[in-house]
Amino acid sequence: MGAVEIKVLKNILKANEDLAEGIRGALREKGIVSFNLVSSPGSGKTSLLEATIPRLLPSVKVAVVEGDVATARDAERINSLGVPVVQIETGGACHLDANMVRKALGELPLGEIALLFIENVGNLVCPANYDLGERHRVVVMSVAEGEDKPLKYPGIFHEVSAVVLNKTDLLPLCDVEVEKVSSAVSRLSPDARFFPLSCKTGEGLDVWLDWLRGELEGGSRP
Ligand code: MG
Ligand code: ZN
Repeated sequence: MGAVEIKVLKNILKANEDLAEGIRGALREKGIVSFNLVSSPGSGKTSLLEATIPRLLPSVKVAVVEGDVATARDAERINSLGVPVVQIETGGACHLDANMVRKALGELPLGEIALLFIENVGNLVCPANYDLGERHRVVVMSVAEGEDKPLKYPGIFHEVSAVVLNKTDLLPLCDVEVEKVSSAVSRLSPDARFFPLSCKTGEGLDVWLDWLRGELEGGSRP
């Protein structure tokens, strides 16, 4: 990358950070706790939401922003759970940015919700650079991706609040040691929580749900 291109990218990221700070402030003011879910395609972000949201309802009011390169398929899946959802179709862009999220939030009943999930575009690279104004970044990976993903894509695993290791029902078919994933994660994000679970069988979901509920209780504090 040449000097001019680096300068342009720095300006884009600075503008994104300013917008993200605005979003963070607005969500804090409304007492909304937000989670930016990042992962490679197919790790099960939407399945995690389908397993999570019905278990939080009706006591926790949830809304979702769905990011995809194309189609509204994921938003349709979330819509059938009966919670407000906005689909962002990026039309080719491989990540969400704060401006896209700011526009999407304008279409949600923010006064009525306590928890916001932002499902990012499936990509383990550039979503790491784009703060969306979320309180927590959560990486979702599946056991089928192999235990070396945190080491190969350290940027996205850096300073995250939690890592979900999904599809543990497939462990008998995969050469993956959960311990190795967990220790790689804690090297990159020493404070991150680690949740091995299966959306399919429900194994491990309770621990994840307890963490979400705990973060919500803290969310109304200034
Ligand atoms: Mg999805
Ligand atoms: Zn991108």
